[in-house]
Amino acid sequence: MHNLFQWPKDDPVQALRARHMLMAFASYLAIIIFLLYCSHIGLSRLSSMRTAQLVAFALGINLLFYMTICSGWNKRLRDPGMTLVQIIVSLLWLMIVLYFTDQIRGALLTMFLNILIFGILRLRTAQFLGVALFALAGYATVIALLEIEDPQAIDLQVEILQWVLLAMVLPWFAVIGAYISNIRSALRQKNKDMEKVLATIERVASHDELTGTYSRRFFLDALRREKARSDREHRTFCLAMLDLDLFKNVNDRHGHPAGDEVLHAFAECVQIELRGSDYLARYGGEEFALLLIDTDLEYAGGILERIRRRVEQCSFPHVGSAITVSAGVAEYQLDENPAETIGRADRALYAAKYAGRNRVERAAA
Ligand code: GH3
Ligand code: MG
Ligand code: MG
Repeated sequence: MHNLFQWPKDDPVQALRARHMLMAFASYLAIIIFLLYCSHIGLSRLSSMRTAQLVAFALGINLLFYMTICSGWNKRLRDPGMTLVQIIVSLLWLMIVLYFTDQIRGALLTMFLNILIFGILRLRTAQFLGVALFALAGYATVIALLEIEDPQAIDLQVEILQWVLLAMVLPWFAVIGAYISNIRSALRQKNKDMEKVLATIERVASHDELTGTYSRRFFLDALRREKARSDREHRTFCLAMLDLDLFKNVNDRHGHPAGDEVLHAFAECVQIELRGSDYLARYGGEEFALLLIDTDLEYAGGILERIRRRVEQCSFPHVGSAITVSAGVAEYQLDENPAETIGRADRALYAAKYAGRNRVERAAA
């Protein structure tokens, strides 16, 4: 259960909605202070009781909106920002205020704009125009009610002129507001699309398409980072080069597409033996590189031996026969250039090939 009053600090979108809500609340407060002052100097026919009721209504409704956001309940709504609801409620409140004020009613009409401007956050054109019409109808109702109730108390001609002015301003305001609102939502959509594209680019840059292992570039970056960390924290790591044995024969006998399938199946097979912290990358062609973090040569040799046996036993339906791998593994030496570690692992790999393939050779320091 969420705390009903706790500011949603861990959720930036919710925090933004809460901030917008508080901005609206500030407008309520401004009107309230204005009304209180007008009552004080005798410019309003609002009794203190009426004023207290209007203030209580404003506080209550805003508290309700605030709690709805803090509890996260608003996320279940189609418009979680509750822009339309908040605008309509404020318009209703303003109409009640207009009904109970007299000389200052004309000045208070500017508050319609203040309320409508929040529509820029969300409203579509039709909604914006609808809200403007609602405001005009509301003000017309207030005038009509006042005229019926006490014709002496209002100057009907002035009120109608004011209404006409409002009717000239609000639709334009709505149209331009909706225009900005639409630009905002188009921008939001564009940003979402961009995020997707960026995620795809990152994936393409960091992974090899055929095998799903890391790309060579990503691997070399990880290697550089690991070297820096090892130098700093006096840790060790191992680097292995793996190369499929006599792979050219696979292509020659079964075709290149079958060779591709073997590379894919090989990578899946090796992954079974790896830990979450290990990096397996396609270094080029049918050659793979493996980074084993926090691992000494003894332990790394064991892992590679397990990988070698696993590959031997894996089935490769596309070729029907066993596939084997040779590997050379080297332990990083403090302050060594990573290229040198790769070179030593490479030479160990050649030694494994030379010694008859399907073997793991450890590089000398
Ligand atoms: P060795 O045991 O000495 O490594 O023998 P090998 O045949 O594996 O060695 P070689 O380097 O001569 O041949 C590697 C072959 O891998 C040649 C190339 O056609 C094939 N190859 C490289 N990349 C790909 C690829 O992406 N797909 C396929 N199907 N074959 C590839
Ligand atoms: Mg090979
Ligand atoms: Mg090769």
